[in-house]
Amino acid sequence: MTILTSSDRSVRPVLPLLPSNTWQQELRDAVRDAGELCRRLGLSPELAHQAAAGASDFPVFVTNSFLARIAHGNPSDPLLRQVLPIAEEGQLLPGFSTDPVGDLPAELHPGVLHKYLGRALLVTTGACAVHCRYCFRRHFPYEVVPHSEAAWDAALTTLETEESISEIILSGGDPLMLTDSRLASLVKKIAAIPHVTRLRIHTRLPIVIPARVTEELLDWLTSTRLTPVMVVHANHAQELADDVAQALARLRGAGVVLLNQAVLLRGVNDSVSAQQALSERLIALGVLPYYLHQLDRVQGAAHFEVPIETGMQIITELRQQLPGYLVPRYVQELPGEPSKTILF
Ligand SMILES: *Cc1c(COP(=O)(O)O)cnc(C)c1O
Ligand code: SF4
Repeated sequence: MTILTSSDRSVRPVLPLLPSNTWQQELRDAVRDAGELCRRLGLSPELAHQAAAGASDFPVFVTNSFLARIAHGNPSDPLLRQVLPIAEEGQLLPGFSTDPVGDLPAELHPGVLHKYLGRALLVTTGACAVHCRYCFRRHFPYEVVPHSEAAWDAALTTLETEESISEIILSGGDPLMLTDSRLASLVKKIAAIPHVTRLRIHTRLPIVIPARVTEELLDWLTSTRLTPVMVVHANHAQELADDVAQALARLRGAGVVLLNQAVLLRGVNDSVSAQQALSERLIALGVLPYYLHQLDRVQGAAHFEVPIETGMQIITELRQQLPGYLVPRYVQELPGEPSKTILF
């Protein structure tokens, strides 16, 4: 997975930095090395050495905002586990593949996935502001994603002819890695397609770089006729620090519907208490828990897998402890199905 595409690089500002560019500065300053990550957190060089082996095909990438929420000196920190490679990533296990969710056959056009009725997903970029070790997109062939304006126009033309589509989902990678001016222009073109009524953004950026929620972002997201929905991605309450709370409050204040999706991850959030704390922190920030995903069986992520029976047990207990709206739908993405499969 690339960090920034060459087109992003060409529009990077030269000094001096304006406040709206602080998120890009934070990307440049991100930790990209297991050794540095371990040093900064007071962890042993042995851990760093193991990590370096796991990072060979998917490098470490952690922003300073996210790093600040990781406890010092705790190798089992639930946030650290999401970003620090371990030796098990190198294991090749039967049943764990490079396209576990069957994305490639669902391509309507390069970068446009039309898997479910009424919704089309645009893979806007392969870049992310964090490299999550469990990510199912770590093997996605991002070089097929449209890069030029003309390639995007061609993708949008396909959507114009699919009148059943009422919702466009911007995904990736992370769509908020694109600059606000590119996103504004893309959204304008989407809004010009008459049958599209909703715009959904799937992003982890407000969590890993809260400064990404710029005035410009609020502007393109809410000045369109499309209903704006944002699905953020936090797996643990500890990710939802005060700077994240402020970013989410700005989105909510601007009228954006906020949902969260999480992945059930061994050693991160595979307990009733972790899930309860996550749901309670989310609703305190005005975000509803939407999905809890069963891990996609992607090569290199087997050590994160939680058995489905354990997941169901967690959900059963959550239902007893929390109001129904704070219990996420426990789902799995199975290739060839007409929707995500509700496990419980
Ligand atoms: C998950 C997903 C969607 C959205 O599904 P919802 O159940 O509406 O959240 C759409 N397209 C693709 C390809 C997806 O993977
Ligand atoms: S932000 Fe999302 S797409 Fe990017 S690495 Fe993490 S899980 Fe994968």
